[in-house]
Amino acid sequence: MKYISTRGQTEPVSFSQAVAHGLAPDGGLFLPEWLPDLSDCLAEWEGLSYVDLSLAFFRHFADDFEDETLRACIERAYEGFDHEKVAPLRKLEDTVFALELYYGPTLAFKDFAMQLLGEFYAEQIRRTGESITVLGATSGDTGAAAVHALNRREGVRVFILYPDGRVSPLQERQMTCAGGENVHALAIDGSFDDAQRALKALFQDDGFRDKHRLSAVNSINICRILAQCVYYFYAYFQLPEDRRKNVEFVVPTGNFGNVLAGWMARRMGLPAASFKVATNHNDILFRFFRTGEYQVGEVKPSHAPSMDIQIASNFERFLYYSTGEDPARVRAIMKQIRDEGRYEMEEFDPGCFRASRTTNEEIEQVMMSVYARFHYTVDPHTACGFMDIIRNPQFNIVDMNLKPEDLATKEGLEKLTSPPPDAVTSIVIATAHPAKFPEIVKRTIGRDVTAPALDALGEKEPRKETLPAEEAAIREFIDRH
Ligand SMILES: *Cc1c(COP(=O)(O)O)cnc(C)c1O
Repeated sequence: MKYISTRGQTEPVSFSQAVAHGLAPDGGLFLPEWLPDLSDCLAEWEGLSYVDLSLAFFRHFADDFEDETLRACIERAYEGFDHEKVAPLRKLEDTVFALELYYGPTLAFKDFAMQLLGEFYAEQIRRTGESITVLGATSGDTGAAAVHALNRREGVRVFILYPDGRVSPLQERQMTCAGGENVHALAIDGSFDDAQRALKALFQDDGFRDKHRLSAVNSINICRILAQCVYYFYAYFQLPEDRRKNVEFVVPTGNFGNVLAGWMARRMGLPAASFKVATNHNDILFRFFRTGEYQVGEVKPSHAPSMDIQIASNFERFLYYSTGEDPARVRAIMKQIRDEGRYEMEEFDPGCFRASRTTNEEIEQVMMSVYARFHYTVDPHTACGFMDIIRNPQFNIVDMNLKPEDLATKEGLEKLTSPPPDAVTSIVIATAHPAKFPEIVKRTIGRDVTAPALDALGEKEPRKETLPAEEAAIREFIDRH
């Protein structure tokens, strides 16, 4: 499998090269040359462990890795996860499930891709003997996951840019207390979008990129998207057979990486009916999927900081597919978005996408309601995913064929109380552990939530640098270190 750029002006590269570069040299994002049809694999994949399923999936994409190497990388990536299923699906009600993606070392779903990426980098360094410089911008969790996956790894230098004062205190500690000499946490005086813009500019400077052998750990790295496809399949296999007809994945969304992975999995044969893009008050994607208009606004800090984004990088990958894989069109649209801050899709059809938006006030209400209805504690990001479920509880449809005598039989009663097979089954992606946001959990449901991994951070010494949101300053810092 070769990897091409969404902008069509980069020669196709191997999987390892796509992973090593992150961003394509023409400024586009890498994608597999074609998406395999995996629907025939589903029967065979049913019941596999997370590691075996990942391996079966990645064989289609990482064909320049030996099978044994690939298996070793995947095993190491997921061995530190604190749940035997790695990504358990928890049933809350007949038609409501939560896919808990927070058992990795930094307690957010970013660990799934980042742990694996860390192993792939290590393999790359073993093969080539050359060091690399990893550069990423983060709204919180990516940085924490990257720092954790790459801390003290030989041959890797890590620079993580994050908006100063706009990540949670715990997220900041996760980035600044790792202790490895190879890790630099850079607090940028600006928003996430400012940090990301500076980072993109550095990647487009060929001289700088090659000199430092830069690699991007943001969700612009194709390895991250592919690693995230796996848990959509895995979630599906954990559903009871009679709930698999009309499945909707509800995905708390910021940079559009996670939901894009699910949507790509669907293009490869995942039997999902729809995806709900759940945003906070930074609602550019909510507005887009309602109207077809992509209008960049101001980023306003929210209770769900990892979703405080107005320029969703992975939207470019979606554009590539929705323009019928037309790189010239993608270049024109990306230019228009950059120059005018807006773009309107002609004859817009949201297809299998739905959208919801949750304000800060609603996040708190949803956290309370989810606890009241399901006795389940969610973090503020996951709360956005529960918005529509709380607002529109699905009522079981009355079966008009029921007869009074049915009430006397067990089957008849089951018919009455269980939802029809074609009722929507919602799988909400639980993106972070509630213990990452203890203040808002305490305020809304009055409970203290903790996690041992976070408690241990309290004893460590933070180390951070503060920089202006300017390319020159960041470039200078990287050169110097
Ligand atoms: C990163 C993140 C998101 C948003 O995911 P995207 O892939 O950027 O859409 C949502 N919730 C949490 C907890 C995150 O860390």
